[in-house]
Amino acid sequence: MSATRHTKVLIIGSGPSGYTAGVYASRAMLEPILIQGIEPGGQLTTTTEVENWPGDSEVQGPDLMIRMEAHARTMGCEIIGDIVTSLDLSKRPFTAQTDSGTVYTADAVILCTGARAKWLGLPSEEKFKGFGVSACATCDGFFYRGMEIVVVGGGNTAVEEALFLTNFASKVTLIHRRDELRAERILINRLEKNPKIETLWFHEIDEVYGTDAPLGVEGVKVKHTKTGEITDIPCKGVFIAIGHAPASELVKDQLELHHGGYVAVEAGSTRTAIAGVFAAGDLTDHTYRQAVTSAGMGCMAALDAEKFIAEQD
Ligand code: NAP
Repeated sequence: MSATRHTKVLIIGSGPSGYTAGVYASRAMLEPILIQGIEPGGQLTTTTEVENWPGDSEVQGPDLMIRMEAHARTMGCEIIGDIVTSLDLSKRPFTAQTDSGTVYTADAVILCTGARAKWLGLPSEEKFKGFGVSACATCDGFFYRGMEIVVVGGGNTAVEEALFLTNFASKVTLIHRRDELRAERILINRLEKNPKIETLWFHEIDEVYGTDAPLGVEGVKVKHTKTGEITDIPCKGVFIAIGHAPASELVKDQLELHHGGYVAVEAGSTRTAIAGVFAAGDLTDHTYRQAVTSAGMGCMAALDAEKFIAEQD
């Protein structure tokens, strides 16, 4: 028989917003429970150096998340390695079913499920996923020592991944659909100075091709966005870095979503349309999407939940 546990505050997700909510809710003596989800620590665990976390001019993303988890735990947050598989927000207490079978009921829920990598959606990309096509340079870069690879995208992630991959690859081609990057200037400067990186403007991947036995990438066919001309780029690895989509599946039929899937919250707060349900971090933020803004929203959500619970009492 599965166990049922009740908590005043259930935090779902373990990125900067989740752990910060855990710190604040613990210090408010709410004895929160935090369910980590499928990727404990979230997106920062798949990155390397972080240079814009206040107080650290350089810190490794995975280390930062280990520290945040330890901080939340030390403050009294109970952290559970489990996945919420369904959530019922139709009545209070709210109910969360988990993969382990434990059911959690909660007076307030803080949603911090973040966002995950987007894909191009090509059948050939799908075919070679895990066999040359990746969305995580930190996880897979090591496999491409001395090889040529391509990175797709024009944001901070794409530029950071291209730079990181030069540690392994003989050549990195950054493919962008426009002729202007949206990455920060400091990263663009590094990109421009790196002799191993070539940037291909106004191009999109048309097809990833390779061998079937063993399954592996041999190159990409890219299309000029203006002329439609197709060019062949031989490469062994294809890294897709075209942004992230909010992980709002759990609540998509229960809460208002906007801007392509982000949970809508009242301006200047973390309150959703359901009293007692709060959302923070990349799940709700389609503008800033930084670790530090995510942490800030986690703090706001815990304070909003504390106020809500005090009003109920
Ligand atoms: P992003 O800023 O949304 O950039 C996505 C890039 O992919 C854009 O250049 C976009 O092109 C391109 N793109 C989107 N869909 C595409 C498609 N179907 N085909 C080809 N190209 C496509 O995403 P991100 O780089 O993952 O960054 C997400 C957020 O995290 C940002 O706020 C970023 O600042 C932050 N971040 C910060 C750091 C840091 O501070 N160190 C590191 C990583 C990420 P267009 O430019 O033409 O739209």
